[in-house]
Amino acid sequence: MTEKQPQNDLSKLPVESLKGVGPSLQNKLLKIGIKTVEDIVFHLPYRYEDRTRISPIGSVVTGGAYLLEGKISEIKVMYGRRRSLIAFLEDSSGRIGLRFFYFSKRQQENLDSLKKVRCYGEVRQGATGPEIYHPEYSEAKIENHESQNLTPIYPSTEGMTQSRYRKIVGEALSQLHRLPLEDLTSMTSSTNLTTCLQYLHQPPADAETDLLNEGRHPAQKRLSLDELTAHQVRIKLLREELKGLKAPKLSIPGKLYNRVIDEFGFQLTNAQKLVSTEISENMLNDFPMHRLVQGDVGSGKTVLAALASVHAHENGLQTALMAPTELLAEQHLATLETWLRPIGVKVCLLTANVRGLARRELMKKINEGEIDLAIGTHALFQKEVNFKNLGLVIIDEQHRFGVNQRLALRKKGSSDNSSPHQVIMTATPIPRTLSMGFYTEMDVSILDELPPGRTPVKTSVLSSERREDIIAQVNFACQSGRQAYWVCTLINESEALECEAAEKVSSELQEKLPKVSIGLVHGGLTSQEKNRRMQEFKKGNLDLLVCTTVIEVGVDVPNASLMIIENSERLGLAQLHQLRGRVGRGSEASHCLLLYKKPLGAISRQRLDVMRTSNDGFFIAEKDLEMRGPGEIFGTLQSGELRLKIADLQRDKEIAAESTKAAVNLLIQDKEKAKRLVKRWIFFEEKINLA
Ligand code: ADP
Ligand code: MG
Repeated sequence: MTEKQPQNDLSKLPVESLKGVGPSLQNKLLKIGIKTVEDIVFHLPYRYEDRTRISPIGSVVTGGAYLLEGKISEIKVMYGRRRSLIAFLEDSSGRIGLRFFYFSKRQQENLDSLKKVRCYGEVRQGATGPEIYHPEYSEAKIENHESQNLTPIYPSTEGMTQSRYRKIVGEALSQLHRLPLEDLTSMTSSTNLTTCLQYLHQPPADAETDLLNEGRHPAQKRLSLDELTAHQVRIKLLREELKGLKAPKLSIPGKLYNRVIDEFGFQLTNAQKLVSTEISENMLNDFPMHRLVQGDVGSGKTVLAALASVHAHENGLQTALMAPTELLAEQHLATLETWLRPIGVKVCLLTANVRGLARRELMKKINEGEIDLAIGTHALFQKEVNFKNLGLVIIDEQHRFGVNQRLALRKKGSSDNSSPHQVIMTATPIPRTLSMGFYTEMDVSILDELPPGRTPVKTSVLSSERREDIIAQVNFACQSGRQAYWVCTLINESEALECEAAEKVSSELQEKLPKVSIGLVHGGLTSQEKNRRMQEFKKGNLDLLVCTTVIEVGVDVPNASLMIIENSERLGLAQLHQLRGRVGRGSEASHCLLLYKKPLGAISRQRLDVMRTSNDGFFIAEKDLEMRGPGEIFGTLQSGELRLKIADLQRDKEIAAESTKAAVNLLIQDKEKAKRLVKRWIFFEEKINLA
């Protein structure tokens, strides 16, 4: 900020204009996404502590958090199961132990030298009576008053202490009062924006801590509404932008479309009928379809891909179908060729394995329009691949693709203002709570019916101590002609380690089960080798497939009816559900055994119970969301799609509903203002026309 030209907008005021923010701090702030004073103002506390009153030590109750003050009466190192430092804090009403498991000699001497100590922390029942583990503490000095406000705790202030960060917030708030923010949603709410922000950063001592900690304070509700409205506006603007593009307009499905249904050899489920109609109707428009099809594992999504590609073919258009792995691409080729070749649709496979002359010839055919349906991996979307007339892009199991890849795909086959139709098929359900209006600019179809004749997978949760019994069970199953998967997982370890673990298990099992023929598939193999072994398993030449999570997506071996998953407590529910979906594909009753290592925490137990009692992917996703919070779900689902600063879709369902209306109104009343709201709340790298 220069003297001459005072900035009049917090969003243009860089953090380094604040007192005490130098280059090093500026860098640290940048790491948590904070560049401007406005960013600081919207980086809200996620928790509050009441440090406004000093409590008598004798009055503390286990489970509560207190600000205490007293003298250190005794300090010593204790040698129990773990070495720790304990200091006893005493006032006229009682005494409490302050325990440190990590401590230095210096800290010990320092504590000993303090005349009077003030500390804050949660009281628990310890070995010596009431104790606080690792309290925050400092020397109590006369000039240090109790705090006037509730103490806010901020998310991720990596590299700086909360108290340092609070000072910066204080500076930012004084700027806020100098330059109040434009109230972009004033028509939807009564409380003034600046007042809300001030309150949430520095709640007065008499504020209701519990209400604030639950996120239900009116000031929080107001800001949640603003934030959710911003997300709704963003999605609506994106949709509008997409509608502005051109796409080939198809005519209604014809004879071939109906003939391919005969080739399937089964009746479509009602859900398949409905969703295939939604897809074909979308392609009758002259703007591109963007449809997300969510269908649980085994719900029959491939059929939809077949139908849509025939529809495109009938209109002289090519289709590209992208799978996340070569294994799946090859499986799609096999399935789709059986259905489509008889009706004269030309199908090909393009992966990184197709090389040299064969590759060049294939490119030529694609370019000359001799191929109707090109199936492949991301190799399909490299620059050298030029379609003659690409009308439809289908992406299978898209949760494996990042957001950026999806946007790159959207550009493939697009000129400035035209784009092919696009369907994304996923088996990772977006919880219903999230799907409407917040998550995606796409239309959403739900394939919520499994083809008839499936017996649900029976799931058991077992301690890994019962490994020998389980091995016997696998033996029995394989001897009676069933096939089984044994999945080895190591979360947070390298893929190399995971492969090694699978190799170990495979030789262990081979030794114990000499009559069972065992195959091994892991990410360390070439895709040809992986594929060869999978085919052996599919043909029934292998009884047991020891594998890593590479097996997760889409693999179809109907005779496999038993699955063992090791370390299941460490996987996400969505992933477990995906894995389990590899069995239960035939008419045989199938079993899934989830092994865990003891001790199993209460939450882990609950999570595995969800798996044990439900086979419904949507229900499981909803539970996963409840137990982990949306942040984590989106981490696994699609990082970066929806990051909320204050709202919580689970908690704020009513506000979410309200935000839909608010967004519509705001867009009608003042589109520029609506765009400013998006900019204020949402950080995103993707390009959206907000200029
Ligand atoms: P998804 O990709 O949704 O997991 P698939 O498309 O691989 O499921 O289908 C799973 C299995 O169900 C396949 O063997 C497929 O041929 C079969 N299938 C699909 N639709 C039907 C249907 N309507 N009736 C009977 N079987 C079906
Ligand atoms: Mg599939």
